[in-house]
Amino acid sequence: MTNNYNYMLKANFNKKLENNKIQCRLCNHFCTISEGRTGICRARKNKDGKLCSLVYGYPVALNVDPIEKKPLFHFQPGSLAYSLGTLGCNFSCANCQNWDISQTTGIEEKIKRLNFISPEEIIKDALANNCQSIAYTYNEPTIWAEYALDIMKLARKNKLKNVWVSNGYMSPDCLKTILPHLDAINVDLKSMDEKFYLKNCGAKLAPILENLKIFKKEKIHIEITTLIIPNLSDSPAMLEKIANFIARELSPETPWHISKFSSAISWKLKNLPETESKIIYNAYKIGKEAGLKYVYAGNLPGDEKENTYCPNCGQLAIRRLGYQIERLDKKDHCVKCGENLNIIS
Ligand code: SF4
Ligand code: SF4
Repeated sequence: MTNNYNYMLKANFNKKLENNKIQCRLCNHFCTISEGRTGICRARKNKDGKLCSLVYGYPVALNVDPIEKKPLFHFQPGSLAYSLGTLGCNFSCANCQNWDISQTTGIEEKIKRLNFISPEEIIKDALANNCQSIAYTYNEPTIWAEYALDIMKLARKNKLKNVWVSNGYMSPDCLKTILPHLDAINVDLKSMDEKFYLKNCGAKLAPILENLKIFKKEKIHIEITTLIIPNLSDSPAMLEKIANFIARELSPETPWHISKFSSAISWKLKNLPETESKIIYNAYKIGKEAGLKYVYAGNLPGDEKENTYCPNCGQLAIRRLGYQIERLDKKDHCVKCGENLNIIS
């Protein structure tokens, strides 16, 4: 399969409208796309009245990463995830760290300089590199769901797990289609403030919260990440809302990763300072007070708040130093009191 245009003729995520317009139904933007134009993500184009994925088969980032880097701390700890991403994104986060690929323009021209990589080749390379999973990451996998889905189906056949790192903005149709093939997901819950989502990301909060509840109901392993941006997403009251949502609507066992903002790597927001460590530690406390059993303070290398402790007796279960881990649990349970640590090995 080398012709993504033909591929898209079979795809299910769009609806024909009048005057050769098409509605893309992959994410909650539901873009109406006129002939010759692309949707908000810039990765899907209306060509002669047919919706086409510009990025099917054209990953721009391919890496063998520790799964801890996603971050996923309770899913196959210590394993390698074959990680890939493409060009474009359905969000325009001012804080984006992968903005060179997510916010790029002229995708159609850029992919002409890339080699087509089939789903079969992705799987072959993942197996050759001793990976246990495929991670759909770097930019939003929803916008290249057809490519991701073909890889996911093959991954399962080859006993590889599928993990998404996502903003959680997929449409109900997209969600329904990926769920049977998905094993774990890390969703960025960036704020509980609709205005923040609108202004900082160009998106809405409500569909993300709904999707998170569905992932939970469907028993997908979920971890949540929140980047704390000074003045924009650092209010204790808002962080408390996130922690309470995770504890009540997902579960107290859901890991919550809190991370530091740095203007050096962000797309915009260059005038903002780095998040102070004391804000991160306070968020950690907020998470614990909300009843979350596994809160992780990220971007503080070597800090003991990246370790996993037994929520029952406090025994150290996984020690982390950067992406190196030392497992001190016994078959996903606490070695001292036997508590289940919500780890999928
Ligand atoms: S994936 Fe989302 S942003 Fe991209 S064209 Fe479809 S509806 Fe629009
Ligand atoms: S932070 Fe994630 S969701 Fe936001 S623009 Fe970057 S890749 Fe897209």
